[in-house]
Amino acid sequence: MGSCWVFATIIAIENDQDWWYLSCKKCPKKVNAVGTRFYCEKCDRFDITGNPRFKIQVRVIDGTGSASLLMWDRECIQLIGKNASDLKDEMVKNSADLGYPSDIEALVDRKILFKIQIKLQNIKEYNDVFTVMRLTVDDDLISKHVTIPCFESQDSTSENEVSTPNKTPTKQSTSNKIQESNTVKRGFDVNLSTQMSSNKTRRIVKEEKN
Ligand SMILES: [Zn+2]
Repeated sequence: MGSCWVFATIIAIENDQDWWYLSCKKCPKKVNAVGTRFYCEKCDRFDITGNPRFKIQVRVIDGTGSASLLMWDRECIQLIGKNASDLKDEMVKNSADLGYPSDIEALVDRKILFKIQIKLQNIKEYNDVFTVMRLTVDDDLISKHVTIPCFESQDSTSENEVSTPNKTPTKQSTSNKIQESNTVKRGFDVNLSTQMSSNKTRRIVKEEKN
């Protein structure tokens, strides 16, 4: 349907321990173990090894609402500065089988400008997990992008497709530090916070597990 830039803070990691998956060596698709080998459906080929890749889902907030964002390998490497097999090796070295690598826990509280994909199911099926297409932590870029309109291809129809109340009162959060941009706030509000109001807390943030 479109895409949207959102400036938001990561507040929790939503994966259990599945912060990585084994992909095909020729493509990013997940492989299935078949005996001692791995099979990629897309490439229709077997291999004796695969590539560990990141797949991390985070909960984020901005001044107006919250949502879950799914980050794939490229964006995770960009944020963490290491690849998934590096972190796996470190976990083994530290004999830390449970929980997340500290590099992943360190994502919490980071403020990031995300470009998220808005799919039809996000709107129609109240799915609040959005896929991250790009992200940036560069301060200069953030200051520029935060002032551009949220929707890249904004027109009257896209406004109507988003079936939200016509007038959403701006919520005044006392701890709202993200007031730089009304455009980004509005976009996040329109797309996400109305879905948040259904109070779906189907995932448990990690703090509650301990
Ligand atoms: Zn493949």
